[in-house]
Amino acid sequence: MQGKDGQVKQALVIGGGPAGLMAAGELARAGLRVILTDRMPTLGRKFLMAGKSGLNLTKDEPADTLLANYGNTGPIAAPLRAFGAAEVQDWARGLGQEVFTGSTGRVFPVAMKASPLLRAWLAELRALGVEMRTSWHWSDWSDGAFLFDTPEGRREIRPDVTVLALGGASWARLGSDGAWREMLARQGVDTAAFAGSNAGLSVAWSPAMERVVGTPVKGVAVHAAGAVHRGEFVISARGLEGGGIYGLSPAVRAGLPLTLDLLPDWPAQKVQARLARPRGKTSLSNHLRKVLKLDPARLALLREFAHPLPDGADLARIVKALPLRHAGLRPLDEAISTVGGICAGALDAGLMLRARPGTFVAGEMIDWDAPTGGYLITACLATGRWAGRAAATFATGGEG
Ligand SMILES: Cc1cc2nc3c(=O)[nH]c(=O)nc-3n(C[C@H](O)[C@H](O)[C@H](O)COP(=O)(O)OP(=O)(O)OC[C@H]3O[C@@H](n4cnc5c(N)ncnc54)[C@H](O)[C@@H]3O)c2cc1C
Repeated sequence: MQGKDGQVKQALVIGGGPAGLMAAGELARAGLRVILTDRMPTLGRKFLMAGKSGLNLTKDEPADTLLANYGNTGPIAAPLRAFGAAEVQDWARGLGQEVFTGSTGRVFPVAMKASPLLRAWLAELRALGVEMRTSWHWSDWSDGAFLFDTPEGRREIRPDVTVLALGGASWARLGSDGAWREMLARQGVDTAAFAGSNAGLSVAWSPAMERVVGTPVKGVAVHAAGAVHRGEFVISARGLEGGGIYGLSPAVRAGLPLTLDLLPDWPAQKVQARLARPRGKTSLSNHLRKVLKLDPARLALLREFAHPLPDGADLARIVKALPLRHAGLRPLDEAISTVGGICAGALDAGLMLRARPGTFVAGEMIDWDAPTGGYLITACLATGRWAGRAAATFATGGEG
């Protein structure tokens, strides 16, 4: 598309994850010449990783329910209302990827993996004329130019409009290392420090836990300041990992105490009555296994977090509210997603940086939070689309 001056406008998108790919498509459809760059040799590496254990694209929920799952919704609320669960599913189908909804409302492509969807998506972008430059590392700004370190040496691009979609600050080996935060801060963009979200917990286990490392923990509830989290998790060598733990990240960041209910479906009186049964010569472990039906993983957690084990009513109480002693979230790089990054106040309604007119942002680099369950990719797609559209309007001199 030509601007008011009759020239074809050039757009630059930096970052080839779901947010950047979405923005690139919108800009190309609006008629701009689009260059998409990424520091990695191939695009969408984290997206592909997300598909390794089943690509959870979205959660099939109406807009209000969906939005209630996000923290710091400010800048992303309007994009999500315009492109929510139904739109994500239509979009995937439009790329030839049939989707299905699991029993909990989570939506996956039938192929489960991300690679068929990514292949179809990149083919569509190529057909729209998007030029892709991989192994192009954006390393600095100079006047109006974006400077890149490339295999052919230093390159610069002076676009009419730019969308930054550089991701969060975890799994750096897949491309998103959060190094951009300092570059934006130098430009006067307000950013918040990164912290892990959807992360495991670090626990310094005693040697006795070695025999249950790798064991799944089922049928347990974790309580954090009145909120109850139920879901499976795994005892790992360095702590606890998995869906039932990831949702606790905001509570851990807030420093709230966590307790485990090892028998959430049993009322306290039942636990107490069972424990009062005569033990005879049976060892305490066998007694607990027999009367409470505790499997080895739950028994190991009980012994680890309540050492030495109390007896009588105190034991019953601790089975229902076992303090989960941990050393905080696992290191940032291991987190499924990160919070922090660009603050709401740094953005206008089109996700343009107030400090850098003509530069828009999208995806995980904006400071919002969400649990796993498809909410992360949905927000990345929604903000990529929103920023791409607003950037096209800006470049062509239209009304935002
Ligand atoms: C193991 C795992 C499983 C996950 N599973 C799911 C899931 O099932 N469902 C879900 O909703 N979410 C899931 N996520 C989260 C989801 O993948 C991310 O939230 C999403 O990929 C973020 O998209 P993005 O486009 O903002 O950033 P990214 O996908 O991180 O893309 C950013 C891109 O920017 C590039 N880049 C960064 N800096 C530069 C630079 N200086 N110059 C040039 N390029 C640069 C990077 O190379 C990268 O390709 C998962 C994440 C992980 C790690």
